Amino acid sequence: MTQDISTVGIVGCGTMGSGIAQIVASNGFDVVFVEQDAAAVEAGTARIAANLDRLVQRGRLEQDARDATLARIRGSVDYAVLVDADLVVEAVPEDMDLKQEVFADIEAATDEDTVIASNTSSLSVTEMASALEHPERAVGLHFFNPPHLMDLVEIVIAEQTDERTEEFAVDYVRDIEKEDVVVRDTAGFATSRLGLALGLEAIRMVEQGVASPADIDEGMEIGYGHPMGPLELTDHVGLDVRLHIAEHLREELGERFKPPQSLRRKVRAGNLGKKSGEGYYVWEDGERVGMSGEWGDE
Ligand code: NAD
Repeated sequence: MTQDISTVGIVGCGTMGSGIAQIVASNGFDVVFVEQDAAAVEAGTARIAANLDRLVQRGRLEQDARDATLARIRGSVDYAVLVDADLVVEAVPEDMDLKQEVFADIEAATDEDTVIASNTSSLSVTEMASALEHPERAVGLHFFNPPHLMDLVEIVIAEQTDERTEEFAVDYVRDIEKEDVVVRDTAGFATSRLGLALGLEAIRMVEQGVASPADIDEGMEIGYGHPMGPLELTDHVGLDVRLHIAEHLREELGERFKPPQSLRRKVRAGNLGKKSGEGYYVWEDGERVGMSGEWGDE
C-alpha cells in the first residue's frame, strides 16, 4: 500500500463523498468523515450502507465484506476525527470560499505532512491551496460520479503541489484500484473541458437543425464508440450544471465556451434534464421516452 497510509479523511459525505468513502474503505483503509451536522452524518452513513446493500443484492459483494467495509467508516461533526489521517479529501459543494474555509480547517486539524485533496470538478486547486500555510501538500483528486463504478481519477497538480504530493496521489489512486491521469490545474482540467466542448457544439447543432438530438447522439455512439452521446450526457449531468461550468470556462478560456441560447432558455424554464423530466430529451421514471420540443418521438 501507499507509503504508510492507514486512515483517509473525507469532508462532506454527499453524493461524491459517500462514494469515495465506500471505495476507500472497500480497499482496506480506515475512513473518517466530517459532515456539517448530526443529521448529515447519519444521512452519509445511510447512503454508503444503501450502496453496499445494492452490491450484496446483486451478488457482487459478500455480506461479511459489506459489514467489514461499513465498520471501517466513522462519521463525525468534529474535525478532530481527522487527526490521524494521512490524506483528507474534501467533497463539499462547489464554492471557492467554502472550499478554502474547509482546506484551512483540515490543515488546523491534521499533521503538517497530511496531503489535502479536493474533489472539485472545475474550481482552481491553486486558489484553494492558497488558503493553506503549507500549500505544497494540496492536490486535486477528481473522482467521477458514481465513484464506486467509475474507474477514472483526474489528479490535478496545483501551482504549489510538490513532487512528494504528486507521487503520493498517484500511488494512492492505484491503491484504491482506479486509473489516474495527471493534469495541470487549468480551467475544466482535461475531461470537463473536452466533454463540455463536445456538449456545447452538439447543442448548437440541434439549434441549427443539423440533426435531431437522438441522431447526433447515435452518431457519436456508433461512429465514435462513445458510451453515451453528448446530448444525453448533458441531460444526465444536468443542464444547470453544464451551464454553470460553461460560464466558468468562458470566463477563463474565452468565447468558444459561450453557452448556446437554448441551454440558457431551458435552464430558465426549469428544464434541467433527467432530474426535472426534460432537457434535450423527455424523461419518465428515469427512462428516456422522447425528444424535447419539435423533435418529438425518436
Ligand atoms: P453534495 O451536495 O451531494 O454533497 C456535499 C456534502 O457536503 C453534503 O452532504 C453537505 O452536507 C456537505 N457539506 C456542506 N458544507 C459542509 C461543511 N462545511 N463541512 C462538512 N460538510 C459539508 O455534492 P456532490 O455532488 O457530492 O459534490 C461535491 C464536490 O464534488 C463538488 O466540488 C463537486 O463539484 C464535485 N463533483 C461532483 C460530481 C457529481 O457528479 N455530483 C462529480 C465530480 C465532482
